[in-house]
Amino acid sequence: MNEIKANLEQVHQRIEAAARRAGRDPEDVRLVAVSKTQPAEVVAAAYRAGQRHLGENRVGEAEAKITEVEGLLGAEQARQALRWHMVGHLQRRKAGPAIKLFDLIHSVDSQRLAERIQRMADRTEQVVPVLLEVNVSGEASKYGFSMPPNASKEARQAFMEAVAAILELPRLQVQGLMTMAPIVPDPEEARPVFRDLRQLRDELGQRFPEADFSELSMGMTDDFEVAVEEGATLVRIGRAIFGARR
Ligand SMILES: *Cc1c(COP(=O)(O)O)cnc(C)c1O
Repeated sequence: MNEIKANLEQVHQRIEAAARRAGRDPEDVRLVAVSKTQPAEVVAAAYRAGQRHLGENRVGEAEAKITEVEGLLGAEQARQALRWHMVGHLQRRKAGPAIKLFDLIHSVDSQRLAERIQRMADRTEQVVPVLLEVNVSGEASKYGFSMPPNASKEARQAFMEAVAAILELPRLQVQGLMTMAPIVPDPEEARPVFRDLRQLRDELGQRFPEADFSELSMGMTDDFEVAVEEGATLVRIGRAIFGARR
């Protein structure tokens, strides 16, 4: 458990160094500790080491774990202190439970999912902070709006229309974009993907000046320093904090 504390410190130092290299304020980068597959005790240890933002990729697992974490830390304290992030693919039928559990959904990857969240949030009268997940690397296996830099004019147009429609949904509060970089041996190879996401964000900011695209969720254990250099405001890190997954 002490190891988690040491790992967190090291990750923070690496984020800070990467931010400074890029002339950025390290305070502008939030660390989301991805606790998927790790038990509630490990989350509690991360909390005691000062970590407040946690990430999960499955609704069912998160639901059980959050209840357990509340048991360990006290429901009141856990609810006030912890912020839960949904970073994995969200099935439409899980939208209802997801908006009850999570403070930010990083993975809105279709207009239909957004519309489903809107309907569920209407019932509970919630406003749901979300990011739009974009597949900029063009890998067919990835979730997200497919928007490689060489997308056709038609694909670009369709994406812009979907974004416009999502921005119209009153229960969704779009805060930015998320992407997953391809797994590559050298993190430098992921840099163009992060840069493309930032450029797409800038383009959306110009096209929809009323909207907020300030958040860029990008970077994981193997590539987060490059992501921070390219503008990440949220890094999602599992193994560098918790070790290998169970
Ligand atoms: C598991 C996961 C992470 C964290 O991955 P690590 O390589 O362990 O840092 C980040 N984002 C998503 C979407 C994940 O599923």
